[in-house]
Amino acid sequence: MTKDEKIALSKIARLGCILCSEVLGIAGSPAELHHVRRYGAKRSASPVLPLCPEHHRGNSGVHGLGTKGFEDKWGVTYEALLERVNEKLGEQS
Ligand SMILES: [Zn+2]
Ligand SMILES: [Zn+2]
Repeated sequence: MTKDEKIALSKIARLGCILCSEVLGIAGSPAELHHVRRYGAKRSASPVLPLCPEHHRGNSGVHGLGTKGFEDKWGVTYEALLERVNEKLGEQS
């Protein structure tokens, strides 16, 4: 990982859990980084979502529910969340 990539990832983590803030209205939940796997894409090129431990690895999280289950439960798509992450990053700079 390059220095620029590390800086980019730490900025994303600092946004806090994107599901908490966008869906539940709770700002600033400490976030872990979830790499969204796209078929055929390299891990280093895969987009990243900031998610709190529960929404990442918990029973109501991406790994607990799987992609489809997660999107159905919360009524959001990864793409929509990724877009919000990008918007928020843009607002910061
Ligand atoms: Zn969360
Ligand atoms: Zn993950």
